[in-house]
Amino acid sequence: MIRNVLIALVLFFQSGSFWNAVMAQQTGGFTARLEAALKAANIPGSLGTRIRNDPAFPGALAKILGGDLYLRILVDKTHPLPEDYEPEDLAVLAYKSYRAGIADTMMLREKAERALEEMAAAARADGIVLTVSSAYRSYSYQAGSFDRWTRRLGLAEAEKVSARPGKSQHQLGLVVDFGSITNEFAETRAGRWVKANAGRFGWSLSYPREYEALTGYSWESWHYRYVGKDLAAFIDTYFGGIQHYALVFLYEWERR
Ligand SMILES: [Zn+2]
Repeated sequence: MIRNVLIALVLFFQSGSFWNAVMAQQTGGFTARLEAALKAANIPGSLGTRIRNDPAFPGALAKILGGDLYLRILVDKTHPLPEDYEPEDLAVLAYKSYRAGIADTMMLREKAERALEEMAAAARADGIVLTVSSAYRSYSYQAGSFDRWTRRLGLAEAEKVSARPGKSQHQLGLVVDFGSITNEFAETRAGRWVKANAGRFGWSLSYPREYEALTGYSWESWHYRYVGKDLAAFIDTYFGGIQHYALVFLYEWERR
C-alpha cells in the first residue's frame, strides 16, 4: 500500500503536470508583480503593452537587477540619498578626450569616468570635443548650491532648476553636465551628438523636454546620468527612452 503511494508520488513529480503547475505558479507570481509595479510606477499603457508581450523582458529585467544598485537607484524629490552617501571609488577626471568647462577639480565614479572617456573619444573621432562643466557634487556642496539658487530666484523657481541636498543625482558620482549648462547646448553639434549617441556608451538623459511634470525638473539637455549599457538599452527598449519611468518601475518592482 505504502509502496504504491510512493510510486504514485514519484510518477506525479516526474510528470509534466507537476512541473507545469510549478512554472505556472512562478509565472503567475511574475505577472502579478509586474502588473503591480507597472501600475504603481504609472507606466503609460503603450509601454506596458510592449513590456507584457516581449518574452525577452524577464531576462532583461533580471540582468538589470543583478547589476550595480547605484546605477539604477531612484534619486528624486521624494527619494533622497542619505546625507552621508559618498561613492567609494571617486576618481579625478583625466581630461584625455574631453575638456573641463570650469577650473575646479571634478570627479566621477571610476566606471563613469571610463564610460565618459569612451564616449568622448568617439565624439573626437567625429570631430567634436565634449566639455564637462559639472560632475560629482557632495551633499554639502549641493546644500550651498541650492541656497544660492534660492537667494537668486526665490524658493519656487529654485525648486525647478536645482535639487535640494540629497535629492541630486550628482551626489551619485555618475552624472555629467555638459557644455554651457543651458539648453543652448541642445542646438550645438556636441549637444546633438550626445543626444544621438549617449545610450551606446551607457549614458542617459535624465530630464527630457516635455517631461517636466514627471521628473519635477525643467528640461536639462546637458545633464546625463551614467546607467551602464544594459540599463541604457533597457530604458530605450522598454521605457521609450525615459529614464525616470524605468527607475521608478525598478524601484516599485524591488520594494514588492
Ligand atoms: Zn546636472
